[in-house]
Amino acid sequence: MSAPARQGEAADEQGTVGRTGITRSAADEQGTVGRTGITRSAAAVRARVRDPILRRVTAVGLLGVILAALVVAFAGDREVLHGITVPTAVLLPGLALLTCLAEVTVVRLRHGEAVEELSLYEAALVIDVLLLPPREALLAAAAGLVAASVVQRRPPVKAAFNLGTYTAAVSVLILIVHLAGGSPGTVTPRVLVAVVAGTFAFTAVNLCCLAQVLGLINGRSPWAVVRAEARLSAYMALGTVATGLTTTVIALHAPLLLPFMAMPALAVTYAYRAAAREADERARSACLLRLSHALAEREDVERRFLLLVREAFDAELALILPAGQDRALSVTAAESTVVHRGAAPSWLAGARETDGPALLTEHLATGQRHVVVVPVAAGGRRFGTAAFAPRARTRMSTGDVTLLASLANALAVSLRGAQHLDRLVEETSKLQAVVEQSAEGIMVVDGDALVQMWNPALEALTRVPAAEALGRPMAQLFDVPAPQEPGVLLPASPGAPRAAAELTIRRPDGEQRRIRMAHSATFAADGLTRDVVVISDLTREYRTERLKSDFIAMVSHELRTPLTPIVGYVDLLRKRGDRMTPQKRSDALELIGDRAAHLSRLVEDLLLASRFGDSGDEIALDVSAASHDLRALVGQVGQDLGSPRVVVTVPDAPVPAYCDGGRTLQVLANLIGNGLKYSAADAPVEVTVRSTAQAVHVDVRDHGRGIPADELELVFEKFYRVEDPMTMSTSGTGIGLFLARRLARAMGGDVTVESTLDVGSVFTLTLGLPVQIRA
Ligand code: ADP
Repeated sequence: MSAPARQGEAADEQGTVGRTGITRSAADEQGTVGRTGITRSAAAVRARVRDPILRRVTAVGLLGVILAALVVAFAGDREVLHGITVPTAVLLPGLALLTCLAEVTVVRLRHGEAVEELSLYEAALVIDVLLLPPREALLAAAAGLVAASVVQRRPPVKAAFNLGTYTAAVSVLILIVHLAGGSPGTVTPRVLVAVVAGTFAFTAVNLCCLAQVLGLINGRSPWAVVRAEARLSAYMALGTVATGLTTTVIALHAPLLLPFMAMPALAVTYAYRAAAREADERARSACLLRLSHALAEREDVERRFLLLVREAFDAELALILPAGQDRALSVTAAESTVVHRGAAPSWLAGARETDGPALLTEHLATGQRHVVVVPVAAGGRRFGTAAFAPRARTRMSTGDVTLLASLANALAVSLRGAQHLDRLVEETSKLQAVVEQSAEGIMVVDGDALVQMWNPALEALTRVPAAEALGRPMAQLFDVPAPQEPGVLLPASPGAPRAAAELTIRRPDGEQRRIRMAHSATFAADGLTRDVVVISDLTREYRTERLKSDFIAMVSHELRTPLTPIVGYVDLLRKRGDRMTPQKRSDALELIGDRAAHLSRLVEDLLLASRFGDSGDEIALDVSAASHDLRALVGQVGQDLGSPRVVVTVPDAPVPAYCDGGRTLQVLANLIGNGLKYSAADAPVEVTVRSTAQAVHVDVRDHGRGIPADELELVFEKFYRVEDPMTMSTSGTGIGLFLARRLARAMGGDVTVESTLDVGSVFTLTLGLPVQIRA
């Protein structure tokens, strides 16, 4: 088995470094090593490293010159083995050519992330040394290397480094073989030992020279590099000896067998090439798999596409020019993770509208042989144009181009999907905003009447949070107290998909709301599929409606009550007045006057109430506030009412308040009158005057029936009465408290209430202090 392994060459684009002889990392993300050599990522690092490298390259070159001079001076002119009759003048160029071929024939062998390169160069050297006199052997080795550098277009610095290293190493090999092996003319044990020793020395010199430069590049000590690579290099040296010696001996004694000698090398070469291709394919498949994942993402698709395609095709350049733009996104091999955005290259101008894959070969950038251009389009929409430039020495196969075109198409599909998704998200968020901000409740239920959507307005209306409502049967979320109404929850039927219904629901806090449900249902053959229900809160309108009808009932009742005795007594006076005693007549007239005054008050209150709007934007009231003694006002109301049930408690000193005396009397009369009216006929009504630093208060406490909690504020609304007007047991208009609060507020105060059902209520009139006291 031949093919001593030589691993890798290191040289950056500027050709700074030469052969590494060391396993390279083929895909080092930082671009640290590889066929292309040292750190590429930062020019600064390169500049820092370059000078010392050049110094070492020069030193290696010098070493080569010195050792070569030693060979010329001391190695004599006898070849080690005899037997070939070909004259040196023919053998020398022949072996130089063989050496060149051995150097050029490189098999890249991948294992894991690393790549090794195998060549027969060292084996050819052994043949040179065995068959040629020392000077000619040196010449053949150097000439073969120079020729190989020219063929492979190696950068000059790299070629010089190789030449220096190999001249030094080959010189050592020649010196050891010729000085230690003597001139036996045939393969003796001494020759064998000398060749093995020389080859190991060759390997050691080679490795040491390379370690100087590689250590510098990788930031390791040269000794560490030597240690890491010594073992592999030793195996290679053995392979080199075996191949070189065997080939030479066969060439001398049975030249016909030489082709057979090459066969194992060829077999290995092809086996390795196939393995390398397979590894490349595997790497590409992995890359394409990552690409397919990247295309499924929404973010950053173009950037990831470029990076992965560049990697999969080992391209020098990959770029995308978005449709209608002048700036392209691009990645290059030199900066494999950086995506540039810049002006599109001029060579793309003619191909940016291409309908299918196009191969550009003219007017390209230096170093580019050809560029593949493919459209990024799908479903009749063009998103841009993609271009890929393979590395200078590689070609893209037709299969590659087809694959690139399909990938560009996949990119377009992904971009189109992303655009659709963006549009969908935008539309959905608009719709969401409508639903969220709607003043009407919106609910969507599925075919099983399970709630799918429950908007904030509906949360506010029902007091059921969306989190609780979603996924639950709709019927569970609406508590319908009226037994005949639940049926209207889902009245929509295939015949009337847009049905609407009104019903009263009870919220979890007990409050009842009147709602209208307008359905918009869709049906399939097997029944309901979806129902969109818009729910409006009709409570206010409903209450207003009720108030209106209540008001008519109330007014007719309230007016009739005083009118009946008036009409009766006037009739009595007219028919029998002259026969009545003066006392009875006076009593009747007093009663008529009393009821007429009541009527007049009633009408006055109604007129006054009509001057207040429901929302508080009342017409300015005739209220003239000044300082009044609240204690006196309370006393007067108590006296006017003349009821022994009114128990007044006042402080000893006057209690000055800032108010309108007449209006305050009216408010107090209403509050105390209500206390009497809505409690038992023998229950006391306690009126207490108290003052604080900021205000004065009159509490009117009764021990009557109280007011339900949810109606505490409603009693201050115009015409609102707790009792049903149809069955009411107490008379009243529902105006008193409304006026009391409005008047108190017009004076800068307020009327508030606290009440417990069946225990009693406390209405409190609060008034401000006169200006001088406040000051
Ligand atoms: P009304 O003329 O009906 O008394 P008000 O505006 O004075 O009108 O009172 C409104 C409603 O508030 C009354 O109909 C009654 O239901 C309730 N209300 C007022 N005061 C009391 C009270 N002290 N105790 C119980 N309910 C009261």
